[in-house]
Amino acid sequence: MANESVLIRCRSCGTRNRIPTARLPDGPRCGRCKNPFPPIPTPSRPVMVTDRTFADEVIANPLPVLLDCWAAWCAPCGAMAPVLEDLARTYAGRLKVAKLNVDQNPVTASRYSVMSLPTLLFFRDGKLVDTAAGALPRQEIERYLWRFLSR
Ligand SMILES: [Zn+2]
Repeated sequence: MANESVLIRCRSCGTRNRIPTARLPDGPRCGRCKNPFPPIPTPSRPVMVTDRTFADEVIANPLPVLLDCWAAWCAPCGAMAPVLEDLARTYAGRLKVAKLNVDQNPVTASRYSVMSLPTLLFFRDGKLVDTAAGALPRQEIERYLWRFLSR
């Protein structure tokens, strides 16, 4: 992870800064306007998100977010859970992996029209940029991730 970096948009001037992932938790400064970024957590495990925390954890999050929409009764969701745990470790600092229980958080689920489970939602700078519905093997999720993280 030492040589990796990520593009973070400055909330003051809009400039995209390339920041080494190792420096994210320090709250680095924007190269253009010198405004400090808030310290950016780099979790290595999926973060549970609710209707109440969605705006903070996903919309306002400076890192790209992969949100797994799941339910306890959904067997394919359970099968995909270890893959998401693993991706959270592998992509720590470049990506935040989050999970939303759709039964307990219907507002967010309906806002993004989650019709089938599992559904993966990809957010960048607070906007939904890609969706993947249905259970997918790790290889297929990573294909989505490479495209997502390279824009
Ligand atoms: Zn700036």
